[in-house]
Amino acid sequence: MKKSWEENIRKVVPYTPGEQPDQPDMIKLNTNENPYPPSPKVEEALKNLDTDTMRLYPDPTSKELVRAIAGVYGLNEEQVFVGVGSDDVLAMSFLTFFNSQKPILFPDVTYSFYDVWAELFRIPYTRPALDENFCIKKEDYFQENGGIVFPNPNAPTGIALPVADIEEIVKRNKDVVVIVDEAYVDFGAESALPLIEKYENLLVVQTFSKSRSMAGMRIGFACGNPVLIKYLNDVKYSFNSYTMDRTAIKAGAASVKDEEYFKAACRRIIDTREWAKSELEELGFSFTDSKANFIFASHKTCPAEELYRVLREAHIYVRYFPGERTGNYLRITVGTREEMEKFFAFLKEYLQNR
Ligand SMILES: *Cc1c(COP(=O)(O)O)cnc(C)c1O
Repeated sequence: MKKSWEENIRKVVPYTPGEQPDQPDMIKLNTNENPYPPSPKVEEALKNLDTDTMRLYPDPTSKELVRAIAGVYGLNEEQVFVGVGSDDVLAMSFLTFFNSQKPILFPDVTYSFYDVWAELFRIPYTRPALDENFCIKKEDYFQENGGIVFPNPNAPTGIALPVADIEEIVKRNKDVVVIVDEAYVDFGAESALPLIEKYENLLVVQTFSKSRSMAGMRIGFACGNPVLIKYLNDVKYSFNSYTMDRTAIKAGAASVKDEEYFKAACRRIIDTREWAKSELEELGFSFTDSKANFIFASHKTCPAEELYRVLREAHIYVRYFPGERTGNYLRITVGTREEMEKFFAFLKEYLQNR
């Protein structure tokens, strides 16, 4: 029985993050982390950190980081908002922009944090179904709504929507805010970032967690019209003024300035992904045309749940999402070439002797 003090508690079913196992021999392909270290410039910045400054609160505006991001993307500082990973940026954005009685829209198969935030903040929502090939149908987003959010490329499918389709969605929804979550855009999809100059109602969110190898540092950002960014900051300052700590500000600024290293690391992952697709095909998998650092794949005879389990026993971790549409797929993060070779060697052996 519920105790009386439990009656008025804000209850929510939390998001389940991917496992973070800790085995020395593991191959970790389950949470879309980058297998390569961050830029050497980050290490240098951390070495130069003055611990005495930790006495003092960090800059609430995170100016150094905001300036570095604005510089790299050719934006003004007023167009950039930073947060503790894009999860923080997205949560603040839901709280700020999705305040209508009308339901917000996001796909039925997508990042599973969206419905958790919607529930947490009591935002009504509708989830238009992806088509039979797991593609977003843009027409579904032409109905009346209280806001729109989707990842591009989508997760866990990796399928990217052409920017022309995104523009059409934004253009047809000028009375609401459209959020494009570009967590994986650096691995080969086209960014909607240039459109923020043209559309006041577009917010583009990115993260340092995947393409910049800094999931452990927790840095995300949003770009949009200065008015949108101002509203976002008003909510942030009403919640927690000092979101970004001194270390994150320094490390993030150093990372974003090293374009060359960043591009080369993304390139390596794209190359490994395309090679991994051919290996998967040979082993009897079908998969979506991922433009992200993961592949969403299904085997023609072996159930995904079984593969997930046997891989796990071998300390090879991939992500499995039970459910009607996703239950026969594995989401496999692209690791290093060596990690992927071990992964494929295990699969080959297992599928042959099954
Ligand atoms: C990983 C991910 C995020 C959040 O990443 P942070 O580590 O919080 O920056 C947001 N959206 C999608 C679709 C993701 O896959």
